[in-house]
Amino acid sequence: MMTRRRLLALGAAGLGALAVGDAGRETTTPARPLARRRAVIRSTGTAPRQHRRVRPEPAAPVPARADAVHQLHDLFPTAPPNAIALTIDDGPQPEWTPKMLDLLAEFDVKATFSLIGIQVKQFPRLAERIVQAGHQLCNHTMTHPLDIASLSKRNVDREITEAHDRIGDATGVAPKFFRSPGGAWSHTIYHSAARHGMIPIDWDIDPRDWARPGTGHIKRAMLKAKGGDILLCHDGGGDRSETIKALRKVIPELKKRGLTFVAL
Ligand SMILES: [Zn+2]
Repeated sequence: MMTRRRLLALGAAGLGALAVGDAGRETTTPARPLARRRAVIRSTGTAPRQHRRVRPEPAAPVPARADAVHQLHDLFPTAPPNAIALTIDDGPQPEWTPKMLDLLAEFDVKATFSLIGIQVKQFPRLAERIVQAGHQLCNHTMTHPLDIASLSKRNVDREITEAHDRIGDATGVAPKFFRSPGGAWSHTIYHSAARHGMIPIDWDIDPRDWARPGTGHIKRAMLKAKGGDILLCHDGGGDRSETIKALRKVIPELKKRGLTFVAL
């Protein structure tokens, strides 16, 4: 019987589910020590019951990569040639994530949100709203340390595990993707992500919207996107009005060129 959590996970799985299905791979979930399997259910005051989630079982490890994915077809060779993936980093954030979700819904675009653990802890409902809207999730560490490539194995593991648990508690989903803060990678990071069953994801279209370079700059950078590209934008980290304004023009323009937005 399919549980609600499984349904949610499938609903958010995007191309990943397709690829796994195509390859016919079956994964088994290793047992986890009891203390870590407990359902983390907090008092949510007047919150309706259905907003409580049970932390998912950990994903099976995947082989470690020696680099991060920049192109959709590196990840999903059978994806249509006109597919592009929009990734949105550093949320959830109470002002800009809802605006981003509304915009994506308006244009019927599914995207991938790279979530920061401490923000998920603070805004679990927003994390859940992202999943319920059918978007994919990516682990973006607990505290977003920009020096992560120089951190010890223990500290990298902690950053990844804590974020994984917070995202799982809030949404019932174990992310299958990991994005390192600032795109900083190391052997240690690739291996830690792989142990958690995650594929490292980078980008190849970066409008540097986090630096607020102006709506025009963001638009021009994003309109260079071609089929197979992974695009980077932000809903966290500050005033994202330029990003929202730019996407409002960029999304319909890229669609007009025949490109299709897919979640990872
Ligand atoms: Zn980031």
